[in-house]
Parts: sequence; C-alpha cells; structure tokens
Amino acid sequence: MHRPLVAGNWKMNGSKSLLVEMATAFRSRQPAACDTWLLLPSVFVESGIKQFSAATVQVGAQNLNWRLPGAFTGEIDASLLKEVGCRICLVGHSERRQIFGETDDEVVKKTKACIDHDIQPLVCVGETLLERQAGEAQQIVAGQIGALMEALTAAQMASVIIAYEPIWAIGTHEVASADDAQAMHAEIRRTLKDFYGPQCPDTRLLYGGSVRANGVKELLEQPDINGVLVGGASLNTNEFLEICNTAAVAV
Ligand code: PEP
Repeated sequence: MHRPLVAGNWKMNGSKSLLVEMATAFRSRQPAACDTWLLLPSVFVESGIKQFSAATVQVGAQNLNWRLPGAFTGEIDASLLKEVGCRICLVGHSERRQIFGETDDEVVKKTKACIDHDIQPLVCVGETLLERQAGEAQQIVAGQIGALMEALTAAQMASVIIAYEPIWAIGTHEVASADDAQAMHAEIRRTLKDFYGPQCPDTRLLYGGSVRANGVKELLEQPDINGVLVGGASLNTNEFLEICNTAAVAV
C-alpha cells in the first residue's frame, strides 16, 4: 500500500517570502506519514530544494522542454533541472495542454525526458466539462493514458505517477464527487493492468481539482486514490499543512 502523496502546484504564483514561510512551517509541523511535493515556478526550484529538507518536502518543477540542450531560448530541459537537484516534475497539466497547445505526443516526450534523467514525472490527464457532458470522459482519459502506455515499457511506467484532474474541477471550487473520482481512478488502473498484464506497475494515482482540507479525507478513503494534486490551496501554508495532516491519517 502506498503512503499518501500530497503534491502542491503553485502555478505562476508565489513569492520568495511564501517559500521561506512554508519551509519554516513544514520543518516543525510536517506529518511523517504523508509524502509531500511542492512544484514551484522554475525560478524558485533551486532555492526551494535548499530550503526544504527532502525528507519532509520534495521540491520540483511544473514543466520542462523534452529536447536536448541547445538553441531554445527561454526553455528548460531535464538536464538543467537535474543540475539544480530537481528530481520531480509535473508533466501535461491541463493548463499546458489547453493554453499552450501541448499535445499527447509532447506529453509523452516530456515524460520520457524525465525518466531518462531520473526525474520522476507526475503526468496529468483529464476531460473538459463538454467531454464529460457528452459521456466521453473515460474515452478521453483512456486516450491520454494510451499515448503514454504505447511509448513506455512497464519498467519505465513504474516511475510515473498519474494525476486525474477533471478540467472542470480545476480552480472552480467544484470537486468531483468521491464516487466519480474513484470510478475514473479504478478505470485508469484497469486500463494499465489490461495493457501491461503481469508486469503492470502499482502506479500511484492522484486526484486533482479544487481540493481543500475539508474534502480530502473522503477522496483518500477511496481504494484507488493514492493522493491529491493541489493548486490554489497549496499557496496557503496552513491549509496546505492541514491537507497533509489529514492525508497522513486518512489512508
Ligand atoms: C491544479 O493546479 O492542478 C489544481 C488542481 O488546481 P486547484 O486545486 O486550484 O483546482
């Protein structure tokens, strides 16, 4: 059984002072029974890694470019992340897919670039509201997972964590019901098992979408939900700590 994982995604938010505040608070109050990640804007990744002890909170990036180092002004590749001690990275967040046009193919390339550099990828999948209303949610998610499975061996997939984030629940205060979230997580697990068979890794599956301290217990009590990906609430030190504390005792 996995320890619960709570991953915070600051997106294009935060400040140096918030980083110091959070690192100080987590040093004394981080629950031992919860794995915690903080995915920061790239300018904060190196100092974040230094400020948090990896034993309490692992700090990583929100995106990378899959290409090898070269003339790609403004981009950051896996070797640069590794250079500053980064060992975890978010890949394929819906904001990157929707706003920056990131395709399944690019998500796969980014995931592979992470794996090749010993950076653990947290890959996001999820459907829009229109897709859910059209009854296509499972098909959309299966397609996103399918692109990954086609490209990764079971051994490579073993280092991947998947976050199911229904796009309609991100930043909207509309959390998927625990039953709906569990149903999709179970479906993702079944899809992985069907494809990889006996070699199938015991993939950690996270739920993301308007997670707050008061709803996290019910989500984590679901058999196929191993953790949560938290956006807005990870910018509030006390709320983020409360989510971690709740997760530590929920499973
Ligand atoms: C996210 O950024 O992945 C997310 C789930 O955001 P929020 O918790 O704010 O909905």
